[in-house]
Amino acid sequence: MSSKDQKNGLYQKWKNIPLWKKIMTGMVLGLATGFTMGPDAVMFKPLGDLFLNAIKMLIVPLVFCSLVSGVTSMNDSSKMGRVALKSIALYLTTGAVAITIGLLIGNFFAPGEGMNLLAPVANEVKDSPSMIDTLVATIPANPIMSMAKGEILQIIVFALFVGIAISTLGKKAEPMKKLIESGAEIMYQLTGIVMSFAPIGIFGLMAAVAGQNGFDVLLPLAKVIGSVYFGCAFLVYGLYSIFLKANGLSPRKFMKATMNVQTVAFSTSSSSGTLPVSLQTGEKKLGLSKSICSFVMPLGATVNMNGTALYQGVCALFIAQAYGIDLSMADYVTIIFTSTLAAVGTAGVPGAGLIMLSLVLTSVGLPIEGVALIAAIDRILDMARTWVNVQGDVMVSTVIAKTEGELDKTIFDDDKAGESLKPQVATA
Ligand code: ASP
Repeated sequence: MSSKDQKNGLYQKWKNIPLWKKIMTGMVLGLATGFTMGPDAVMFKPLGDLFLNAIKMLIVPLVFCSLVSGVTSMNDSSKMGRVALKSIALYLTTGAVAITIGLLIGNFFAPGEGMNLLAPVANEVKDSPSMIDTLVATIPANPIMSMAKGEILQIIVFALFVGIAISTLGKKAEPMKKLIESGAEIMYQLTGIVMSFAPIGIFGLMAAVAGQNGFDVLLPLAKVIGSVYFGCAFLVYGLYSIFLKANGLSPRKFMKATMNVQTVAFSTSSSSGTLPVSLQTGEKKLGLSKSICSFVMPLGATVNMNGTALYQGVCALFIAQAYGIDLSMADYVTIIFTSTLAAVGTAGVPGAGLIMLSLVLTSVGLPIEGVALIAAIDRILDMARTWVNVQGDVMVSTVIAKTEGELDKTIFDDDKAGESLKPQVATA
């Protein structure tokens, strides 16, 4: 075999390795390099900075386009008005509860406490505005300026207004709707391209962090994983069970019937990828009507990300603690608000929540460098949060079907219903 063939073979092998494994490899190599080289490993930091800049580059257009198309996709079906309102109300409420639990857990377990990382200078001196000022400033006087300055909260609010206007205009706004939808697709694609460089970026960042801080960084990361998994289990087994019980449905039966959905969500880390399985399970094993499934579930896969919201709460606090930055009450409110809406704008694909995390950090002036620490373990966190996201979609669909009289209780109660179903393999 010629050396060219050999190179091609190696390249193909590398290409076939899933991204998360490459990222983990980047992290491990970065850590090893940092631990052995010590402070000199900072020479690799520019690799990480390139990656961080690429993520920052995505934020404004990605948030704007995906949020506008998230809102416009909700209004596609006018006859489903009531169901749509109910779904949105439930999705937003569970999202806000999830992020609040995330913040509580982040405070309680304090995974970043004592890390004493050095914050970049710009973030060290930060006056927190009062709550009233924050609220008043959420409406951007000049949306273009907000975009230029990267003011995320203001961009989100503007996007919501634009989305609502497009939906209420109907036909006249169709070209703009299509344009923004296509813009969102382009930004998702670009996200994929940027993420393919993550292993190199993470290598550079981890080498620098490990070189400067030694072994002190490992334990806190393990604590972040523990905190996010604890919170996710709490949402699925606690919060979701309460909603089901309140509607006279057995959480045990629900968990059993959704086993396929849960395993596919966990292993693919993709809400969209799991959608075919959720739809099938909803109809055949939970007894939901086709119309409820086909409207509420896809909507949920796009806008409902409770696991992602929880993760953002834990991670924002972890990063604040790691850099020794105190957050004010107004910052907490901003995090709850931004994360709930960021969840709407998060695409149901692997790793999307990480990009949105940088948005939440920016909204309260936390150092975006923190994303690198999380990125290293993101796939592990992604599996759990996608599990919560998808279970949330199915739970809300079940509750809505029940209240609309569109749930066949005999199927729901029958442990053997749909047993002949083969698990579908979703492509993420
Ligand atoms: N992977 C998640 C999902 O598909 C989104 C995220 O990255 O938070 O639901």
